[in-house]
Amino acid sequence: MAALQHVSSAPLARALRSTRAAAAAAAAAPLRSSQADPPRFLLGLSEPDLRNLALQFGHQSYRGKQLHDLIYKTKAREIQDFSHLPQAFRDALCGAGWRVGRSPVHRAVTAADGTVKILLKLEDNRLVETVGIPVENDDGSFRLTACVSSQVGCPLRCSFCATGKGGFSRNLRPHEIVEQVLAIEDIFKHRVTNVVFMGMGEPMLNLKSVLEAHRCLNKDVQIGQRMITISTVGVPNTIKMLASHKLQSTLAVSLHAPNQKLRETIVPSAKAYPLDALMHDCKEYFLETGRRVSFEYTLLAGINDKKEHAVELAGMLHQYGRSYHVNLIPFNPIEGSEYRRPYKKVVLAFVEALESRKITVSVRQTRGLDANAACGQLRNEFQKKPLLEPSSSAEPQALPV
Ligand code: SF4
Repeated sequence: MAALQHVSSAPLARALRSTRAAAAAAAAAPLRSSQADPPRFLLGLSEPDLRNLALQFGHQSYRGKQLHDLIYKTKAREIQDFSHLPQAFRDALCGAGWRVGRSPVHRAVTAADGTVKILLKLEDNRLVETVGIPVENDDGSFRLTACVSSQVGCPLRCSFCATGKGGFSRNLRPHEIVEQVLAIEDIFKHRVTNVVFMGMGEPMLNLKSVLEAHRCLNKDVQIGQRMITISTVGVPNTIKMLASHKLQSTLAVSLHAPNQKLRETIVPSAKAYPLDALMHDCKEYFLETGRRVSFEYTLLAGINDKKEHAVELAGMLHQYGRSYHVNLIPFNPIEGSEYRRPYKKVVLAFVEALESRKITVSVRQTRGLDANAACGQLRNEFQKKPLLEPSSSAEPQALPV
């Protein structure tokens, strides 16, 4: 975060102030186990860390391996459920303020196509949203994607985004990101195959925790780096920072406009990060990691969905290289938004304009919960009114593209 301190645009400066204030408030929060020890969480720790922990408690190193299995394979939720471990070890861990770090599921809503949105109730009673998206491929294989949040709310206030309209509370800690994936696995009784950081929040404003969670998801939960996507609207200097880690993960940049002027009206924080600087950093990311950058482009009817926008977008992408992919997302209307969803023929014309200029394109399928819970368009709907119960007949319906 220190590298971000020069940022001067109002939205980003406000975002940084609020994330710092939230961190200070968390640090000043009353300690749980004793006045000296804040709660400590096993979830997020590596096997070597857990082996060291066992040694610190006077037990043999293999007890740490058992801890690792209990957390990530058995997925035990409480230390007292670790029946493989001596009672004295369990009591000592609890007494020292350790806990697993799993939160209860507050609500779960299932759509007709199997997409599940869950709300986890965090220790401070804040709710964080995660979406599980099951996909059966034509070849019969099964993909389960977890769309995870990195912050409670978001300070960046992109004009089309429901999460941004809901305000910002705090950054998530690494274990609070990892537990979202485990919660999706619990619900589907299946391993998560893909993770996308496209839920609530801007991952690059919480990069340290995101990187720690990424490590854990890769090494401990065993999800391949290539199966993980980190999404951003662009925060100065952070793409370079991410590239320096040389992760084999996809960077997804939310572009939403082919030029700086239009982009600033859709993404206010773009004022601090000119499009040419952002594109330059994306090119460097590819050169550094060898991983293709994906661009997310939300199509807003009459705003950024015209053929000339597609032509301009193709021209700009060609200026910066060839290893790019554009993912078009027809806007899902949200309450209180001035934007509308584009017609199907407009979306197809946009696709054609890009493809004829040799840009690879996909159109994000509208999933059952997208009407009010698309990844990256999540709204703190539950804070305004209770979530729909699974049995509700008013369950959100998929909108046809
Ligand atoms: S689109 Fe992403 S960065 Fe923008 S307000 Fe929404 S959650 Fe935040």
